[in-house]
Amino acid sequence: MAKFTKEDALRYHEGVRPGKIEVVPTKPHSTQLDLSLAYSPGVAEPCLAIEANPNDVYKYTAKGNLVAVISNGTAVLGLGDIGAEAGKPVMEGKGLLFKIFADIDVFDIEVDSKDIDEFVKIVKGIAPTFGGINLEDIKAPECFAIEERLKKELEIPVMHDDQHGTAIISAAGLLNAAEIQNKKLEDIKLVVNGAGASAVACTRLYISLGVQKKNIVMVDSRGVIHKSRTDLSAVKKEFLTAKDVNTLEEALVGADMFLGLSVADVLTPDMIKSMANRPIVFALANPNPEIAYELAMKVRDDLVMATGRSDHPNQVNNVLGFPFIFRGALDVKATGINEEMKIAAVKALADLAKEDVPDMVNTAYKELNLNYGTDYIIPKPLDPRLLTVVAPAVAKAAMESGIAHAPITDWEAYEMELEQ
Ligand code: NAP
Ligand code: MG
Repeated sequence: MAKFTKEDALRYHEGVRPGKIEVVPTKPHSTQLDLSLAYSPGVAEPCLAIEANPNDVYKYTAKGNLVAVISNGTAVLGLGDIGAEAGKPVMEGKGLLFKIFADIDVFDIEVDSKDIDEFVKIVKGIAPTFGGINLEDIKAPECFAIEERLKKELEIPVMHDDQHGTAIISAAGLLNAAEIQNKKLEDIKLVVNGAGASAVACTRLYISLGVQKKNIVMVDSRGVIHKSRTDLSAVKKEFLTAKDVNTLEEALVGADMFLGLSVADVLTPDMIKSMANRPIVFALANPNPEIAYELAMKVRDDLVMATGRSDHPNQVNNVLGFPFIFRGALDVKATGINEEMKIAAVKALADLAKEDVPDMVNTAYKELNLNYGTDYIIPKPLDPRLLTVVAPAVAKAAMESGIAHAPITDWEAYEMELEQ
């Protein structure tokens, strides 16, 4: 991982102009005429056109390329409930990533409210501004109800990235890890450690890809999610196990896969030893995984491992998903981001990892020869093909599932446009 000090990080953010993003005009603005067009009186014309035909908002304003990154600061990175304002650097950072990876403009919106109804009302109230809504760093379980309601009540793409971004990227890793380890999704015995925003979304997506509910054991901070428990939320109850296991240690005996979305250092070498042959370990707690990479690799040589860290192979990094998923959704004016679109992104990412890796990607990561296999199951974030592979796959899935308002007909032209 790149090394920097606390001072480096603060200096970077302060800079000459504090923060990480700014607004840049896209129309001429140097003459009196330009100004009369940009604002009063010329601006009245597009206003009237939109009043007469609401869809013209996409023709005459920035809406169609503008995503709101919205947070209430209740689950910021690994920092927890630090408040709306303290989360702002993260939301600006997400704006920066949307821009550089997919040329999507972002307004970061920090909302001072922890109340589900109030938060939903605020987001709905400002939704007309945006072509899409990326919910970010909102704590569980509130994040589930907030996203569900906004998806239902709004006609634009809405996605809580901490849930679905993680689910999509890790699911791509899972498809390839299962192939490499010669395991069928239908047969995989999966132990999920963590039952929060990301764990729930990952598990739901894995199920829709073929993992059997009866083969899953989920564990939270109090132990296995078991029918004897009386403290479970409605969402956790979705994952009740009938198996007679009470601890992570018991659950892992003979398991094919460990998915960790919890906290550092809760997985021990002995637990990994007790897993089935050719196990899959996705230890995704950030910044420190459920077991240190070197430690896990020392225990077994038949392991495929992924973490959330960039200094080890197979980093599950959400930036592989959200810029391209929103790009595809916006470009066909999808009314949402549905299961089909998510699965299309999963498959596009999984397939891309099997393609020959361009030299520039090897160079960017100081690698000689990245190749599909144990140490390369997921594409790398700086791979320029992500945009031209994932965005069209998502756009196509939106069209095929009947939620695209502006279908694309010339795919070659679209891909060329993306490349520019
Ligand atoms: P979250 O909603 O707060 O969920 C955390 C979950 O972990 C909760 O269900 C909690 O249990 C459980 N937990 C805490 N200590 C545990 C323990 N000792 N054993 C088992 N479960 C335990 O957080 P999140 O957003 O899902 O994120 C979870 C972790 O995954 C964080 O470390 C985050 O950085 C990481 N993450 C990584 C990626 C990535 O690699 N791309 C993406 C998303 C998240 P209770 O429900 O009982 O409180
Ligand atoms: Mg996040």
